[in-house]
Amino acid sequence: MNLKKQFLEYCRKENILFTDKHDRHYCSDASFLTLGDPFAVVFPKNEAEVKKIITYALEHRLAVTPRAMGSSTAGAALADGHAILMVVDRLGVCDQWGVRQRKPKVTIVDTELKPTEIRENDDRRLYAIVGGGLSTDELDRYLKKMNYHTAVVPSSGWSSIAGNFATNAGGNGTPKYGTFKDIVGYLKMVVADEQGVKTIEIKDRAEIEKMGGFQGTLGVILEIGVLIVPILKPSETENVVLSYESDDISEIGEKMGTLIEDTQKNCSFLNAEFLFIDPLLLNEDDALWENKELADLLRVKEGSRKMLLLYQGEKKGMRHLESIVKKYQGVRYRSISNENMNIMLGVRKAATGKSTGRVAIPGFEDIYVTKPSKLGMVLRKIFELCEGNLPGRPIGHQYIDGIVIHYRPQALVTREEYLKAWELNQKLTEEILNNKEYCTIKRKEHGLGLELFKLSDAQRREELSQLKQKYDPCNIFNPHLFSPNPKIQFIGEHLKI
Ligand SMILES: Cc1cc2nc3c(=O)[nH]c(=O)nc-3n(C[C@H](O)[C@H](O)[C@H](O)COP(=O)(O)OP(=O)(O)OC[C@H]3O[C@@H](n4cnc5c(N)ncnc54)[C@H](O)[C@@H]3O)c2cc1C
Repeated sequence: MNLKKQFLEYCRKENILFTDKHDRHYCSDASFLTLGDPFAVVFPKNEAEVKKIITYALEHRLAVTPRAMGSSTAGAALADGHAILMVVDRLGVCDQWGVRQRKPKVTIVDTELKPTEIRENDDRRLYAIVGGGLSTDELDRYLKKMNYHTAVVPSSGWSSIAGNFATNAGGNGTPKYGTFKDIVGYLKMVVADEQGVKTIEIKDRAEIEKMGGFQGTLGVILEIGVLIVPILKPSETENVVLSYESDDISEIGEKMGTLIEDTQKNCSFLNAEFLFIDPLLLNEDDALWENKELADLLRVKEGSRKMLLLYQGEKKGMRHLESIVKKYQGVRYRSISNENMNIMLGVRKAATGKSTGRVAIPGFEDIYVTKPSKLGMVLRKIFELCEGNLPGRPIGHQYIDGIVIHYRPQALVTREEYLKAWELNQKLTEEILNNKEYCTIKRKEHGLGLELFKLSDAQRREELSQLKQKYDPCNIFNPHLFSPNPKIQFIGEHLKI
C-alpha cells in the first residue's frame, strides 16, 4: 500500500475526518497561489486528533501545514505533495461530534491570566481565551452583550483568531492597539520534537510578540488569549468621512497623502480607512442610494475619481481634525452617525473584493507607503499601468507610521483575464516596489505568506530560525516557508475557461 493510502487508512481507523477527493478548494487559498495537490487533507476536531496526525507525520517524515479559514492572501495556508494539510478551523469551537457550536467557550482573564469577570467601568487589560478556530466575528457576537469587542478586527472578520495571530493581521483597532502580535497574551499549542508530540502553554508576552507572524511554522495553536476592549459609547465617538474628487489621480493622492501625514501627527483614531469610489462598487438598485447621509458620498462624476477617508475614534483624539482639514482646499468634511460609519466600514470591507460581475485578483497587496505624501506618485503609477487593461480600485488603511494600499485588478472569470490580472500584479510589484522613490515596502500585514523568508530582514530571519529550533526542531510545520527563493505559482494558469 502506498503511503497516502496507508495514511488515509490510519485516519479511517482513528475516526479522523479526511477528504480523498481531488478537491481544488484545498489547492489554493485566498492568494490564488498554489503548491499543487496536498499529500492529504484532514480535519481534526480536537487536541487528541491533532496529536495523532502529527505523530504520524513525524514517524513518516511528512510535513504539516495548519490551515484555518484559508483566507491568507499570501499563500500561507498551502501544502505540497509532501505535506498534510491540517484544517484546524474547528479546534476548540466544536462539540464532541465535530459540530461547530453557536455559543463559543470563552474565558475572560486578567493580565496574570487569572479568570475574572468584566466589571462596570473596567479599566483593566483583559484577554478572552478561546479555541484556536474561533473568528473575531464569533467572539464579538459573544462579547457584544458585555459591551466589549476584540481589540483588532481584520476586514476578514470570519478569519480565525489563531490565523490572525499566525499572519500578524491588522485591521480595525490597529491605529490604537497595533497588530495581532501586540494583542495576544496566551497560547496553548501542540508542538513536536525527537521525544514526541506535546502540548505547551506560552504566557510570556515578549516571546509571544516574537511569535506573531510565525505562519504555522512552529506548531498548532489550540487556544489563544486575545485582548478585548470596551465598545466606545456613541456619545464619546466621532465618525468623520473626508472626501476629495478630481479627474487627476496624482492630485488626489498628494492632497490626501499630505493630509494623512498631518492627521497622523495630530490626531488619534480607532479606525482610519480609505477607499476609492467607482461604478463597479454598487448596483443601481443598491439600498444605499436611499441613505440620505451617505448617497452623495458614494456618487462620483463621470471622468472623475473620489477618495474617501473614514475616520472613527474617541472625540478627544479627533478634536483637531476639522481645523486640519480646512487647510486642504476642496476636501469635504462630513460628520456622520455611528450607524452610518459602520455601514461605510462595511462598504470599505466589501470594496476589497467586491466588483459586480468580476473577480478581484490578489497579488499587489499590503503595499506599505512609509511616507504618505508619496501616495500621489504611487497612485499615478498604479493607474498608469492598469488603466485601459482591467478595472481595479485602491483601498487601504492609515496606521500610525504609514499607510497600507491594496490594489486588485478585477478580471472576468476567464483564463485570459486572470492571467492579464496576474501579469499586472507582477508589473506593479516590479515598478513600484523596486523603486526607492516611492518609499514602499511589501507586506507589513496579511502575513508574508510564501515569501516569509524572502521578504524578512536578516534580524527577523535569525529570530524565526531560533524559534523554529526551539519549537519545531524536527522541522515538520510548514518547512517550505523557510525558503529564500519560494516558487510562486498562480492558480489562474489552471483555469479551464
Ligand atoms: C476579504 C479579505 C480581507 C482581509 N482583510 C485583512 C485585514 O484587514 N488585515 C489582515 O491583516 N489580513 C486580512 N486578510 C488576510 C487574511 O484574512 C489574514 O491573513 C487572516 O488572518 C488569516 O486567517 P485564516 O483563519 O484564514 O488563516 P489561514 O489563511 O487558514 O492560515 C494563515 C496562516 O496561519 C496559520 N494558522 C492558521 N491557524 C493556525 C493554528 N491554529 N495554529 C497554527 N497556525 C495556524 C497557517 O498555517 C497559515 O500559515 C484578508 C483576507 C481576505 C480574503
